[in-house]
Amino acid sequence: MNSRASSPLVFLPRHLSYEDHRSPKQRFSRWNSYEIQLKAMISNILADKLIIFSAIPTTKAVTSDFQSSVPVFSDQFELTTNPLAGYCRVKTVRSQICNSDRRVLAGTKKGGVSQAIVLGHEGIGFIAQLSNTHTRHDLQVGDLVVLGPHFVEANDHCLKNGVPNLSCEMKHLGIHMNGVFADEMDFPEYTLNKITNSNEIIKKATNRSEYYDQMVFIEPLACVQRGYKLLQKQPYFNINAIETILILGAGPMGVIHAVHIQKKYPHIKVSITDIDSTRRNLTKNLPNLQANVVEIDTLGDNTQFDMIVVATSSREANVHSAIKFIKHNGVILLFSGIDMKNGDVRPVINGIDIETVHRYEHSVQLINYGFNLDAQITKSMYFMGTSGYVKDDFETSIQELHEDFMLGSELCLYRRIATSVINKLDGNVVHDLTGAFRDVTFDMPAIIPLLKLFDENDANDSDVNVHNHLKILIRHENYL
Ligand SMILES: [Zn+2]
Repeated sequence: MNSRASSPLVFLPRHLSYEDHRSPKQRFSRWNSYEIQLKAMISNILADKLIIFSAIPTTKAVTSDFQSSVPVFSDQFELTTNPLAGYCRVKTVRSQICNSDRRVLAGTKKGGVSQAIVLGHEGIGFIAQLSNTHTRHDLQVGDLVVLGPHFVEANDHCLKNGVPNLSCEMKHLGIHMNGVFADEMDFPEYTLNKITNSNEIIKKATNRSEYYDQMVFIEPLACVQRGYKLLQKQPYFNINAIETILILGAGPMGVIHAVHIQKKYPHIKVSITDIDSTRRNLTKNLPNLQANVVEIDTLGDNTQFDMIVVATSSREANVHSAIKFIKHNGVILLFSGIDMKNGDVRPVINGIDIETVHRYEHSVQLINYGFNLDAQITKSMYFMGTSGYVKDDFETSIQELHEDFMLGSELCLYRRIATSVINKLDGNVVHDLTGAFRDVTFDMPAIIPLLKLFDENDANDSDVNVHNHLKILIRHENYL
């Protein structure tokens, strides 16, 4: 793993270049002919050229050592001269901030490590270079690919069972391996997924930049789609019988759920709520979104829904609101996982550990649960956990994003969930794309303060309040 994040640009020392050179020792040869001397001179000149041209490649990157919780921007993060065996070099086109990037930095999500690592896991880019030993013959230089942040070894037991996302050995981009917040980075071949039909769609697109803005949603949408696929496999679940859904959390993921339901199951009436009024406004403002944006306190005590989607890491929403608003025999989709620090009490309801159900994609029925104080009223409900994606979800996600994109600039929905954009990884301004908020200029790369987990103390300081944005998109250099 490359950990030389902040060292200055260094040229290869002379003796390192000589190692590659065929005859460096000729200079010291005892042969004394002019010819040999001339050859030595030429090879020295060539070696000097090599020294100049074999400078270690560097890239802009946002890194963290996970000890200070504060990310650091480096404009000279060093790469190896060529990608290591089994890795591909990718030029990043678009990346996005995901709240789990913030949670990992803040230590509220399991999996923190202490090494210096490039952050970020949602991104797309072009393959710039393959390693000498590459085995994925479906990948070529110039292909547009989406990064799959999960990495498991080829012999992983969960991978063999088709659920690599449940592996305890899983490594994750931006946590254990260098991530996408870099203009150029080497990723294991396993993590690359070609964006099927991208060339055909780009040809039809009037605006290539809008296409990239749209396709960076592949990974988050794949995770959303997976929840509904898992539900469809449950004997108790019938999507046609679902008339109403309440989504808890109007952050980017909650809104992706709302859009997905609107597109795939248009018969369902969707309500979405958030404790944060700015987020509710941003969601209300999304053109073409049909979901009903509500304030949770205005929902009467007797308002109940056929299904609840928990798209917030709030413990309160996961263990209280979801249960309060679900109908008897309804289904609660546990999507987000709960913010927890080491040593926090487990979120257990009648022996069911909600966080474990989420992380390991269990399906559990809670029967006759007395949910008010005197247990006068009881109800039953199903919990369905969903966590991450598998490769097949990428294909269906690409398809759905392509279909949405082909509706045209006016009607296309997904890319509008990015309400804010940073141009260039180290851009100081986060631009508002909605008119519902405003541009904010920072005295440092804007991505740094925006990688801080929401803190109630920030709520009044609107510049660093990350709830002022839905998705924050980064358009990387050369692909603006
Ligand atoms: Zn994510």
